[in-house]
Amino acid sequence: MLDEVIKDIQRALFESDVNARLVKKLTENIKKTCKLDEIPSGVNKKKLIQKTIFDELIKMVDPGTEPWKPIKGKVNIVMFVGLQGSGKTTTCTKLAFYYQRKGFKVCLVCTDTFRAGAFDQLKQNATRAKIPFYGSYSETDPVQLAIDGVDKFKSEGFDLIIVDTSGRHKQEAELFAEMKQISDVVQPTNSIFVMDGTIGQAADGQAKAFKSTVDIGSIIITKMDGHAKGGGAISAVAATGSNIMYITFYLPKFNLLFSFIGTGEHIHDLEPFTPKSFIGKMMGMGDISGLIETVKDLNLDQNKNLMENLEKGKFTLRDMREQFQTIQSIGPLSKVMQMMPGIPPEMAQMGDKEGTKKIKTFMCIIDSMTEKELDSDGKLFIQQPTRIHRIAKGSGGTVMDIEEMLKQHKMFAEMVKNLGGAKGMLNQQGKGR
Ligand code: GDP
Repeated sequence: MLDEVIKDIQRALFESDVNARLVKKLTENIKKTCKLDEIPSGVNKKKLIQKTIFDELIKMVDPGTEPWKPIKGKVNIVMFVGLQGSGKTTTCTKLAFYYQRKGFKVCLVCTDTFRAGAFDQLKQNATRAKIPFYGSYSETDPVQLAIDGVDKFKSEGFDLIIVDTSGRHKQEAELFAEMKQISDVVQPTNSIFVMDGTIGQAADGQAKAFKSTVDIGSIIITKMDGHAKGGGAISAVAATGSNIMYITFYLPKFNLLFSFIGTGEHIHDLEPFTPKSFIGKMMGMGDISGLIETVKDLNLDQNKNLMENLEKGKFTLRDMREQFQTIQSIGPLSKVMQMMPGIPPEMAQMGDKEGTKKIKTFMCIIDSMTEKELDSDGKLFIQQPTRIHRIAKGSGGTVMDIEEMLKQHKMFAEMVKNLGGAKGMLNQQGKGR
C-alpha cells in the first residue's frame, strides 16, 4: 500500500517540476517514518500514511521563516523587483488592495520608464482599486521618480508606499544597477522579489541572483494557476531559505459574479503563503485558515456559529447552508469556493454559472428541511428515506439531487471530524511556523 502511494506522490511531484533530489529526500523520510510492519494493530495505517505525507510535503515547501508584514502607523516602503512579465505591476496593486482592506493608508509609485505603457497599466489598476498613485509621462529617470513619489506620499502620511520598478527580459547588469540605485535612494523597509511560478525549478537560480544584488526580504510567486510547475518553483525557492510571502493566481474562466467591492477582476487573487494551508489545499482539505481570515475581514457575523462548529469538529446541514449563503454574498464565486472547506472540489471547479445553479438547488433542498434535520449530521435521512421523498416534493429537487448533496455533506463532515476541527488544524499551523 505504501509503495503505491509513494509512487503516486513521486509522479505528481515530478509533474510539478520538483527537483529530483528533493523528491528522493521526501521518499526516504516517508519510508523512515512509516514502517508499516512495526505499527501495532489498531493504529489506522491509512491515516498515518496521510499524516506523514502531509508533514513531509509541508517540510518541502516551508522556508522556515516568518513572512514580513508592514506595521500600521509607521512609514513602510516596499520596493518591488523582478523580470519583465513576471507579474510585478499586477501584484503591486493586489498587495496594495490587500493592505488597504486591512485598514492601511496605501499608495503606489511607478518608476518603470523602461516598458512603454507601464505607467498606464499601473494607473488603470490603481484607479480601479481606488488607490492613490504617482508616476509621470515625461520624467525618464526612474531614480528621480522614486525620490519624488516617495517624498510626496511620505509627507502626506501614508502607511504603506509601494514602489514598482522596471523589469528587463533577463537578468542584466543594467537592471541590477537600476535596482540598486533606487534601493539606495528609497531605503525600502522591504524589497519584494516577484517571480513567475511557471519557470519551475529554475526559480532557484533566479532567486539567488536577485538576492545577491538587492537585500530581498520576501518573494511573491505569481501565476500559480493552472500551471503544472508551481510546486517546483515553491520548493526550489523554499530550499534557498527565502521567505515566500504570497502566491498569486488567476482563475480559469474567471468572471466576477459577485464583486462585493466592485474593484474589478483579479484583484483578490493574492494569497498569503503558509505551507500548511497550501499543502492542505493541494490535498483537498480546504483552506480553513484562509476562510477564517476572509470572514474576519468581512465581518460576516452570521458565520459565528459555523466557525464555532468547525472548531469543534462538527458540521451540520445548517452549517452547509451557511457556507452556501456566504459564497453568494462574498464572491467571486469560483475563488471563494476553492477556498472554502465544505464545498465539494467538483463544485469548486465548476464555472460560475453552473456552480451558482447547483448552489441554488442545494439551498432549496436545505430550506425544505425541518429544524431537527438542519441541526443533524444527515444520518437520519438514511434511517428514514421517506424524509428524502418529502423534501424532494417540497423543494422541487430530485431524489438524486438530495442524495448527492447529502453525500457531499457527509464527506466534509467526516473530514472536519478527522481533523479534530478547524482549531486543531489552526493550532498545528501555529506550531509549524
Ligand atoms: P510586469 O512586467 O512584471 O509588471 O508584469 P505584469 O504585471 O504586466 O504581468 C505580466 C502578465 O502576467 C500580464 O499579462 C498579467 O495579466 C499576467 N499575470 C500577472 N499575475 C498573474 C497570475 O497570478 N496568474 C496569471 N495567469 N497571469 C498573471
